[in-house]
Amino acid sequence: MPPPGLGEFGRIRAFFAPLAGPGGLGLMDDAALVDCPRGHRLVTTVDQAVEGVHFLTADPPDLIAKKLLRRNLSDLAAMGATPRHYLLTTALPTSCNDEWLRRFARGLAEDQQTYAVALIGGDSTSTPGPISLTLTAIGEVAVGAEIRRTGARPGDRIWVSGTIGDAFLGLGVLREDLEFVGIAKGFRDALAARFQLPEPRVALGCRLVGVADAMCDVSDGLIADLGHICDASEVGATIRLKAVPLSPAADAMVAAQRTTRLALATGGDDYELVFAAPSDADTVIGKLAAELGLPITAIGTIEAGKGVRVLDAAGKPVAPTSTGWRHF
Ligand SMILES: [Mg+2]
Repeated sequence: MPPPGLGEFGRIRAFFAPLAGPGGLGLMDDAALVDCPRGHRLVTTVDQAVEGVHFLTADPPDLIAKKLLRRNLSDLAAMGATPRHYLLTTALPTSCNDEWLRRFARGLAEDQQTYAVALIGGDSTSTPGPISLTLTAIGEVAVGAEIRRTGARPGDRIWVSGTIGDAFLGLGVLREDLEFVGIAKGFRDALAARFQLPEPRVALGCRLVGVADAMCDVSDGLIADLGHICDASEVGATIRLKAVPLSPAADAMVAAQRTTRLALATGGDDYELVFAAPSDADTVIGKLAAELGLPITAIGTIEAGKGVRVLDAAGKPVAPTSTGWRHF
């Protein structure tokens, strides 16, 4: 008996073919054909999202789609690349009916408009297991303009975009495992939204070409990801917790002693950009922040040595432990 609903090819025609960019050839061929401007290179990255691990069964399908795409775009932004295309593989149980997939594809369609990217191919399969989604994003960067993690130098200032810790608190809102009594509903909603729908800094990433010496997106947590830059660049860093930019909602949580600045700087899932730049780039970075309407905040300095030193509000070092960080 054929499966109920549109079936595999009907689903591709109805939901995915309308998302195809020119290189995707209407999803009618065996593979995609993409051009790359002379003097540029393709930048590629892949991320997977598994039901029960990265998202919950009841999450809105359009948000699941957007977050998966955005996580990938954040990685491209961290390289200074401009996103162009993506490929998508879906492994779906029968519980994902045509309506689920229609909403999933609608999320992708909206973000294709927002970020000027298009689908060029993929694969789809059914599975007896949980939903599994794999997205490969492809961007472009001029040869030699890519921003690696390896270029940080002692004396560089450390900058971070946007605000830090909102997604960590947002997960607490959704899981109801943090105390939010007395915190305004508007704040709780804003925090949950930051977890469910990150805003990759696509416009900022490519504008930092020629400005940033080294860059990384914040997915593991600000301190951990800055640590990745330090390891790759063979340098150390000192950051001041007090300088780490917080949203009004996160500020309210710190003020109410429901969380700490340290917890927010280790939380992760921010999808902001952390980068190192020479101090003579201060003016350019200030102008960029104003132009993009996005705060970019200096939080510390790259130094000779190894690892990330974290100073608390009083300027005292905070110590790393195997399970995170603690105050001396
Ligand atoms: Mg990354």
